[in-house]
Amino acid sequence: MDKLTPNPGWSPRISMPKTPPNPSPSDLAFINRQLRQRLSTLTREASHNEEVLKRFHDRELTLLATESLPQLLSCLADGMKSSFDLPTIQLVLHDPDHELRHLLLHSGIEPDSLSDIRFVDEISSFSPRHARYKAPWLGAYMEQDHAILFPNAATLKSIAILPMIRRSKLVGFIGLGSHDPNRFTRHHASDFLNRLATISAICLENTANREHLVIAGLTDPLTGLHNRRYLERRLEEEVTRALRYRHPLSCLFIDADHFKQINDRHGHGAGDSVLRELALRVRECLRLSDIATRFGGEEFTLLLPQTDATEALNLAERIRHRIQDKPIAIHGGESVAVTVSIGVSALRPDSDSSTQQIGERLLGDADSALYESKESGRNRVQLATTPACQKTTPP
Ligand code: GH3
Ligand code: MG
Ligand code: MG
Repeated sequence: MDKLTPNPGWSPRISMPKTPPNPSPSDLAFINRQLRQRLSTLTREASHNEEVLKRFHDRELTLLATESLPQLLSCLADGMKSSFDLPTIQLVLHDPDHELRHLLLHSGIEPDSLSDIRFVDEISSFSPRHARYKAPWLGAYMEQDHAILFPNAATLKSIAILPMIRRSKLVGFIGLGSHDPNRFTRHHASDFLNRLATISAICLENTANREHLVIAGLTDPLTGLHNRRYLERRLEEEVTRALRYRHPLSCLFIDADHFKQINDRHGHGAGDSVLRELALRVRECLRLSDIATRFGGEEFTLLLPQTDATEALNLAERIRHRIQDKPIAIHGGESVAVTVSIGVSALRPDSDSSTQQIGERLLGDADSALYESKESGRNRVQLATTPACQKTTPP
């Protein structure tokens, strides 16, 4: 039986047999047989609908339990595909301010890499015809009408298009596709599908809001980089991953040189502008997977997954040059020359230490190397080595 669409159930199409005025025993026996057959059909339909309801209920609970946007999207796309046994699920999400896309990027996910999900600036220009849908549409797949929602899916035979509506606004579509022409027809009841689409729309809004709050708590408002709390969270995660897959992991501690003088000479506002520009220049040198944080004050920390000490040293030199080579504009057309000192460390696994200790050592080593770099004259990069630090930039 169909796993997704309930039968109409107790609908008028099951009419009751009429009893003649003076029924003979054979009439009664016939009516009795008919009634039994109908009762058995109704019981089958009821149990089928109960099974479908349970399936929907489980899916809804899973959606409501998701804690992040990537998890929710994966639950909507891949989760729905496997739980309803469908070859195709397509999501189209209204994202006029690129908010969802930015949230994904913040989690290290490239929105374009999600093949079943498209983010559109304006649904009405993306597909004017479907933008008018107020309720699920079930029926045969027709390429000229539906290819926009189901690209590369010419083998589909029937589809369901579920508009996701939140506060009377269309926020997206969930497209379900099947190779079975009878899987979605206009005779199927669509109440459960409608409810699922509504719950999906609510979950999308809630998850995006929650993610904003989390980001606000883990982001430095001045520079937009992650804050120290975020680094503490990610450190153990990245160390665990590096140890498990035997990947290198490096760390950079960057500190602006004589930053206090900038504040003293040009004012706190100018100091803030410099910090913002430093963060920008650092960020321009990074890959999406690198984790940049404002550790505090004028100090920045970079965690570099899959990066060994040599690559980390090269990156540190690129950052140092990028900052040194061009003075930073402050107010009134003025600009200030700024330099940074950088300490570099690489993961030192050992079987006697916990993941947390190994992570703390990675940071501690970079901090010590930074201190050495300051001691030896500033505007330099230094690699942490044990027991002593090794200078890599000549004075
Ligand atoms: P060094 O080369 O040894 O690192 O010297 P420094 O002057 O950079 O270091 P120090 O630790 O003496 O001074 C850092 C200054 O950064 C002191 C503090 O007032 C300033 N600072 C910290 N956070 C902010 C901020 O958010 N905005 C501004 N404008 N200044 C800040
Ligand atoms: Mg400092
Ligand atoms: Mg400093």
